[in-house]
Amino acid sequence: LVFIVTGIYTGCEKEKAQMMRPLIIEAIHAQPAVIDTTEFSDADFMQHVAVLEKQVPDGFSVFVQKPFVVIGNESPAYVKMRAEKTIKWAVDLLKKDYFKRDPTDIIDIWLFKDKHTYYRYAQELFGDTPSTPYGYYLESDKALLMNISTGGGTLVHEIVHPFVRANFPGCPSWFDEGLASLYEQCGEKDGHIYGYTNWRLEGLQDAIRKGSVPSFLDLTEMSTYDFYMKDKGTNYGQSRYLCYYLQEKGILVRFYHEFREQRAEDPTGYKTLKKVLGVDDMDEFKREWESFVLGLTFP
Ligand SMILES: [Zn+2]
Repeated sequence: LVFIVTGIYTGCEKEKAQMMRPLIIEAIHAQPAVIDTTEFSDADFMQHVAVLEKQVPDGFSVFVQKPFVVIGNESPAYVKMRAEKTIKWAVDLLKKDYFKRDPTDIIDIWLFKDKHTYYRYAQELFGDTPSTPYGYYLESDKALLMNISTGGGTLVHEIVHPFVRANFPGCPSWFDEGLASLYEQCGEKDGHIYGYTNWRLEGLQDAIRKGSVPSFLDLTEMSTYDFYMKDKGTNYGQSRYLCYYLQEKGILVRFYHEFREQRAEDPTGYKTLKKVLGVDDMDEFKREWESFVLGLTFP
């Protein structure tokens, strides 16, 4: 089922005047390959879009790309392309390997075409000033705000988080951010999503050479507060390249599922990590992992 609404409105007369701008609403239904059905119906999405539509400024087009709604001010063809080629692509592949449940909210993904409109509309629509030039999730509004001119990497990163929240309650920050940041730079390999080395490598390699990277026990036991607020600059990189290492060994997907299943007994993931790696001596593993990371290159 595909439906497109272009500049057509069936609501009350008063609101009709506001509809004299290009508005495209399209629902692109996923192939029934995913067993889990979405928790939101077509009617839920239509209702959501009807409310959303009232706040969408001129020059934006709207696409339902389940389980998200995508709003952008590039040309409608471009917004649609991003909805399909980036968002649908990433969602399908992430679901294939990791996630059964859709996010628990309908999240709006705002794709601003440039820095100017990103900052402008963050303020005008949400009363918010972005603290990052790339994009972020605004929990209060269930909205992802993206400066899409900086690329799609942050978008995929931010798409991972609501899926982790829905599928892995209590997932510690190190793994939530490790997995999300792994796919900041990603592609497809043998039909699966695949993370490549990226800009986080250099800082991590420097820290490894300085001997300042924490043990994996310390990393995995970090509270959310410590992970974000007491980060000496390596938490994201260490988590990402641990995930990258697991990916390269072909055990990342297995680790995710075993960790998720064992989360009550092993809330930090440390025991499951040792088990999946098949190692007892994590100091020795860290030395091996560090030499592995030092051997990586980017670009
Ligand atoms: Zn993140």
